[in-house]
Formats: sequence, C-alpha cells, structure tokens
Amino acid sequence: MSNDCLFCKIIRREIPAKIAFEDDQVLGFYDIQPSAPVHILFVPKKHLDSVMQATVEEPVVSLLSDRAVKTAEKLGLQPTGFRLLINYGPHAGQTVHHLHLHLLGGAQLSHL
Ligand code: AMP
Repeated sequence: MSNDCLFCKIIRREIPAKIAFEDDQVLGFYDIQPSAPVHILFVPKKHLDSVMQATVEEPVVSLLSDRAVKTAEKLGLQPTGFRLLINYGPHAGQTVHHLHLHLLGGAQLSHL
C-alpha cells in the first residue's frame, strides 16, 4: 500500500468507487471516465507501480486477466467480445502509477 496512491486510496475505501469485483488479491472498479459502455479497472491490492514489476515471480498480470475475464463473462460480454489493456509509461498514456488492467466492452471498439 502506498499512502498517496489514488488506487490504494480506492482499495482502502478512502475514495469512493463503483466496485465490480473484489477478492483478497484484486479489486475491480468502474473507470470514472469510461471509454466504452463497460470500462472496469482491475488492480492488485498489493501496490505495484506498473507492469514493469510484473514478473514470473510476481505473476500479477495473469491474476488480473483471470478476474477480468470472469467479470466479463458475468456481465455477458463474452459472446460479443471485449478488450484487455495495460498502459505503461508516457507514450502509452499511463496516468495512474498503480498497475491496472482495463476491461473495455459493451460496444464495437475502435481497432487498435
Ligand atoms: P491509465 O491512463 O491507463 O493510467 O488509466 C487510468 C484510468 O484511471 C483512466 O482511465 C482514468 O479515467 C481512471 N481514473 C482516474 N481516477 C479515477 C477514479 N477516482 N475512479 C475511477 N477511475 C479513475
């Protein structure tokens, strides 16, 4: 946990968020500025700055994608599809420095 990290504050419930998923390791909450009808961020409860800290020894991306896929299925996104996305660094536009996986769906998404 990091004291001044926005997503750590959401995890600690110091800042409100609409929760979509939670277990002991992962929190999923709706993005405040959605880029799709369904836009949920999945974050590890343990603070990691970015995907650069996700390693074989720290297999957090597979943890996040597992929870995101299960949530997508639960929300009925599976037949039409969805996108999972992680931004790292300024060229990708990472704005919050707590690792997060975006789940986007619910409409046709622009092709990358
Ligand atoms: P990224 O650009 O990949 O770092 O994504 C950060 C995301 O966090 C953006 O899509 C923001 O809209 C979202 N965001 C920022 N503040 C909040 C908040 N308080 N609650 C939910 N989502 C947020």
